[in-house]
Amino acid sequence: YVEVSNLSKRFGQNTVFEGINLTIKQGEFVTLLGPSGCGKSTLLRCIAGLNDVDNGNIIVKGEDITHAAPQTRGIGMVFQSYALFPNMTVWDNIAFGLKMQKVSAADLKQQVDKVIELVELNGREQYYPHQLSGGQRQRVALARALVVKPRILLLDEPLSALDARIRKHLREQIRTIQKEMNLTTIFVTHDQEEALTMSDRIFLMNKGEIVQSGTAEEIYTQPASEFVASFMGNYN
Ligand code: ATP
Ligand code: MG
Repeated sequence: YVEVSNLSKRFGQNTVFEGINLTIKQGEFVTLLGPSGCGKSTLLRCIAGLNDVDNGNIIVKGEDITHAAPQTRGIGMVFQSYALFPNMTVWDNIAFGLKMQKVSAADLKQQVDKVIELVELNGREQYYPHQLSGGQRQRVALARALVVKPRILLLDEPLSALDARIRKHLREQIRTIQKEMNLTTIFVTHDQEEALTMSDRIFLMNKGEIVQSGTAEEIYTQPASEFVASFMGNYN
């Protein structure tokens, strides 16, 4: 469903990654896990089209989107910090992407109300971002990404700014929604526990390389290198 082959990216002299390969099945929830600076966000941004790539290909459903404009890729993305429009209500923030697609007013209302229900923001439609908690803001960001029915959902550490209790609740909520919509999802985190508990499959990155991929159990019980063992073992 998603095929990234031989992908390379550098900024000036600094090579972030080289020859990255990954394949993701439709409806799969995969996690890019790795220490700070290893290239997770850059890889996600390349897939989203927010960074251009120096080499390699990104194929989605057989279509080569390597050089397609970001808004034509069918991708929904949520960032670590809530990228909401501060002067728009929750409802308008969520409706924004659909309005750009010129859907009818009736469809707009129906689809926005549906995702508001899905992320449990009922009653908050007329609030502004500054009147929301961090967890609520991330649910608005998630709703904004979901409302356009993306082919791929990209989540870049969407929970890391939140306190532990809310983080746990939102983890479950994201997985529930993702399964319900059968959404192919790439989740980025540097948190081992988050990766181990949420993922169908984990791609473990270090210094611009994917050093191991597999299920949580495979990676935890059969680390392929000392780096993997110590990185996964540090979590307890
Ligand atoms: P973190 O867990 O801290 O978010 P990350 O794995 O997401 O880290 P990236 O943000 O992808 O890491 O950064 C990987 C490398 O690419 C870093 O060395 C960073 O300095 C470099 N980099 C990222 N964006 C740019 C940019 N716009 N210009 C120059 N270098 C960049
Ligand atoms: Mg990052």
